[in-house]
Amino acid sequence: MSETTKQITTIGLTGGIGSGKSSAAKEFHRLGAQIIDSDALAHQVTCSGGVAMPAIEAAFGKDFLMEDGSLNRPKMREYVFNHRPALTILESITHPLIQEASYAAFQVALKQDPPYIIFMIPLLFESNKWQDRFKKIVVIDCTVETQIQRVLIRNNLQRDQVEKIIAAQISREDRLKNADYIINNDGLLTDLNKQVIDIHQKIISL
Ligand code: ADP
Repeated sequence: MSETTKQITTIGLTGGIGSGKSSAAKEFHRLGAQIIDSDALAHQVTCSGGVAMPAIEAAFGKDFLMEDGSLNRPKMREYVFNHRPALTILESITHPLIQEASYAAFQVALKQDPPYIIFMIPLLFESNKWQDRFKKIVVIDCTVETQIQRVLIRNNLQRDQVEKIIAAQISREDRLKNADYIINNDGLLTDLNKQVIDIHQKIISL
């Protein structure tokens, strides 16, 4: 960890698919926090011309690329679910590049002189290395059924696909065990935002 990283409060924000991470991040951003979205960075490295694409093409073949050269995400998602070693290969390509992009985004965020920086990482607890980097961890929590309903509305996925994704993620119980702050998002967006404001106050008083 660099000297600059030590001087600013870094917060990890996590939660299962559809739990409300992006919605909470929007409110944290409105309050002045800078957000580094690891999902967006994963998209960035696998978009058309993305830095991960040459290695992905070499490892998996052209079949996994869209016509514009970006990653065929539905096809890759399906493939790695059924071929676990392929997931390890894919991650060995993308993770270091996402980390590099994350560090670059962190430097940009620092220039905004925010009170703290939030790293939004869906699979924070699934990858041990991330945990020690943050002063506090915020977990967005809701019932599995709420997650499923929200993802069904948001994404073009079948219920069993959503259930599979949730089953591949850390359990709700284990995620909560590692939280410093928990935000419940089974209610209205206004309830979510109120909790974000409370936690923002706590973070700026750390
Ligand atoms: P995540 O980033 O964790 O995947 P999102 O913040 O994108 O989750 O939320 C998933 C979907 O549910 C989005 O379409 C979002 O607008 C919606 N959503 C999130 N929180 C609420 C809420 N409290 N009430 C209604 N819809 C919500």
